[in-house]
Amino acid sequence: MTGLFGGAFDPPHNGHVALARKGASHFGLDPLVVLVNAAPGHKQVATPPEARLELARAAFPEYEVELDPHARTIELLETGRWDDPLFLVGADEFARFFEIWYRPEDVVELARLGVATRPGFERAVLEEVRSQLAWPDRVEFFEIEPLPVSSHEIRDLVARGEAIDDLVPPAVASRIAELGLYRGQDYTKSIDQRN
Ligand code: ATP
Repeated sequence: MTGLFGGAFDPPHNGHVALARKGASHFGLDPLVVLVNAAPGHKQVATPPEARLELARAAFPEYEVELDPHARTIELLETGRWDDPLFLVGADEFARFFEIWYRPEDVVELARLGVATRPGFERAVLEEVRSQLAWPDRVEFFEIEPLPVSSHEIRDLVARGEAIDDLVPPAVASRIAELGLYRGQDYTKSIDQRN
């Protein structure tokens, strides 16, 4: 089954890698396509898409990695490029599925969802969201090692000149340094808008 894993990946970190690996093995995903949102509809992203693509290729050498020009997941799925794919998401995204995703019921009609646990997101909340869907059986939860790391935390650390080696794959840390990303910038937390 084809797996899809979308994100801003600004930058990709160990939480993303854990999610992709566990999702691929849990669901038997082959191929797994990592989709770097060129211009996500639901958050402000300052880093150019080509740089984020390069970082994602460094983070996910074993998977297909490409730029996704669609602002919303439903637009990607409506291309019909994949037959009944499984889309991997983190618990934070699914907890606010009806608030931040555009046409959530249509998304679940076109793709099964594999929802990974993420620290701070209660299983009961996720179950509640799933129960509201017309096709709850198309959403499956899977456990991943809890890694309380986020892209905005890494941007903040780099901006303050602090180490990120425990939080991102070594190849990502090297590329961030070589490209001079996130240095000395005032990163405020991403502003969530509708996905
Ligand atoms: P930001 O901090 O900028 O909001 P982020 O760390 O949430 O970014 P995204 O690129 O927005 O990263 O996330 C892509 C996907 O990975 C989303 O589905 C998100 O839920 C999931 N994800 C991100 N971090 C983790 C984590 N630590 N554990 C599990 N899933 C995660």
